[in-house]
Amino acid sequence: MALFNSLNLNDKKSDKEKVSGEPTEHIQVLIIGSGPAGYTSALYAARAGLKPVIYQGMQAGGQLMDTTEVENFPGYPQGITGPVLMEDLQKQAERFGTDIRWGEVTAVDFSKKPYTATIDSEKVVSADAVIIATGASAKYLGLESENRLKGGGVSACATCDGFFYKNKIVAVVGGGDTAAEEALYLSTLAKKVYLIVRKPELRASKIMQQRVLGNDKIEVLFEHNTVEVVGDKVVTAVKLVKRKGESDEKIYDLPIDGFFLAIGHKPNSDVFKDYLETDEVGYILTKGKSSKTNVPGVFACGDVQDSIYRQAVTAAGSGCMAALDAERYISEMEFENKQ
Ligand code: NDP
Repeated sequence: MALFNSLNLNDKKSDKEKVSGEPTEHIQVLIIGSGPAGYTSALYAARAGLKPVIYQGMQAGGQLMDTTEVENFPGYPQGITGPVLMEDLQKQAERFGTDIRWGEVTAVDFSKKPYTATIDSEKVVSADAVIIATGASAKYLGLESENRLKGGGVSACATCDGFFYKNKIVAVVGGGDTAAEEALYLSTLAKKVYLIVRKPELRASKIMQQRVLGNDKIEVLFEHNTVEVVGDKVVTAVKLVKRKGESDEKIYDLPIDGFFLAIGHKPNSDVFKDYLETDEVGYILTKGKSSKTNVPGVFACGDVQDSIYRQAVTAAGSGCMAALDAERYISEMEFENKQ
């Protein structure tokens, strides 16, 4: 199950005035975000006696809360629903003393120690170490019908939901490497995969293009745009416009069972961008095989720093790494303070 936490931090503006306010509380390890990465880092930090505090963000539990069945998280042979998995992860973190709070981090100041974070543009807390686990959000087309049918055949993760479309007909929107990968993956399950591409060519790498174009089950619909996802409770078709605005423009309904978005992701890192190095898309850069960012004592884990794997289990693993890195950082800090 990919994790695309939709903690909508990107929409928030930096609020430097609020950050410069005096902190009203000091926290040893502050964890921002409550997907598998956040809760796993909390579990490890709590067991290490670091009294972590999690601010859950706009969507407590992250994007798994929008998912029905999760069948690829190890330890659940019968599968589990996304919300129950997140509840279990939360309980496990709480069992060892994690303080889990509602609230969204709307600004940070990593320019001097102790670092500070502003919660809901009001309260300011300071922290010895900060673990960022804010995830990334899949991009959607923004259609009302698409939003309404999320969980009813509209998905942004083929690896998570493809299994439910065995021998069915699906469509994937997008022309990049993700869309190509998703289409290829779905072609191993579905009987037919349409790839809806708005341009006359694919953006995906040459090798991925060759694989897609050479796959009998995949039909690429170039110069097609989605107007509507059709269906009452579940997806039954997609309304497409071919060669929009041209003299041979054509609008038609294509019967499908599943509609997959693969038009990119946006990491939820905007609130940190004044301080942390990111790639051109906004994924936070971490050093080597660690969760360390360019700011000592600030660690990143999960999808906010991972544009490649984006799975719940990899997010959880990187959450563990972040907690271990934070633990070492705090030990060294305490040792130096004693000198
Ligand atoms: P990209 O930004 O590369 O591609 C997004 C695709 O979605 C483009 O074809 C774009 O169309 C299309 N698109 C965007 N908005 C819309 C819209 N509103 N309606 C219809 N189509 C739309 O994103 P990816 O997620 O594919 O890839 C991100 C990065 O990750 C890339 O660098 C990619 O190479 C990399 N990646 C690598 C993989 C690998 O190496 N195995 C696997 C997956 C990703 P248009 O071309 O017209 O702009």
